[in-house]
Amino acid sequence: MDPRYEIYAIRYAHLPRTARHNFIDGDAHDGPMPLDYFVWVIRDGGRHWVVDTGFDAAMAAQRRRQLIRPVEAGLEAIGIDPAGVEDVIISHMHYDHAGNQQLFPRARYHLQDEEMAFCTGRAMCHGLMRAPFDAADVQAMVGRVFKDRVVFHDGDAELAPGLTLHRVGGHTRGLQVVRVATRRGWVVLASDAAHFYANWRQRRPFPIVENITAYLEAFRRIEQLADSPRHVIPGHDPRVLSCYPRALPDVADIVRLDLDPVGDQDA
Ligand SMILES: [Zn+2]
Ligand SMILES: [Zn+2]
Repeated sequence: MDPRYEIYAIRYAHLPRTARHNFIDGDAHDGPMPLDYFVWVIRDGGRHWVVDTGFDAAMAAQRRRQLIRPVEAGLEAIGIDPAGVEDVIISHMHYDHAGNQQLFPRARYHLQDEEMAFCTGRAMCHGLMRAPFDAADVQAMVGRVFKDRVVFHDGDAELAPGLTLHRVGGHTRGLQVVRVATRRGWVVLASDAAHFYANWRQRRPFPIVENITAYLEAFRRIEQLADSPRHVIPGHDPRVLSCYPRALPDVADIVRLDLDPVGDQDA
């Protein structure tokens, strides 16, 4: 039988801002365009993979982001005890994707070779490049390497049937996206390959870029990997919450991405 994973998007934080901050060439209208922050869970019966680890309350205060709900509380809301999680996929090492360093004491961390080289190497000598990284997150990952808790990948990798990783780079050098087999077809968790639907659909990069050509090529790659544009999930777009059905009836910011969208993604 073909695998049919469930996918959950769990919002944990929020940042009000205007549109000019979200495009490399600014935005003439500059209306409100807030960011949401998510972690994702891929579930197959009793087995699950957590995609990205978010940041904690201290980091939210330091960077002046609104923590909506701690990541551990979001996971617990869908029945996952972080202490029991065995596999964590890190899309890339930015502070909002690789924090909460102590939250998953048993987990193996899946990471691209290029991302670890990027965030421990020469690029971090430049303030502009290292600004979205936190040294403690990087140090924690080095610590896991020395405890056999990091699984390095180089390009494409299969974690389980119907669950694969793909390095796309662009935003960071080793950014990877996750392709998942679901009942509605192949879904791609694009993470920061597309912060917003608009970055991707309008080919207008978000201002944090390591390599602009690679960033633009990544759009083609995620379109190849997904069954349709409705199968691509941006990393920070609040519209994801209005597009997809709730996982729990009373919780507005945990949604199911393996079910058909209910709203208009291009609105
Ligand atoms: Zn990022
Ligand atoms: Zn991000």
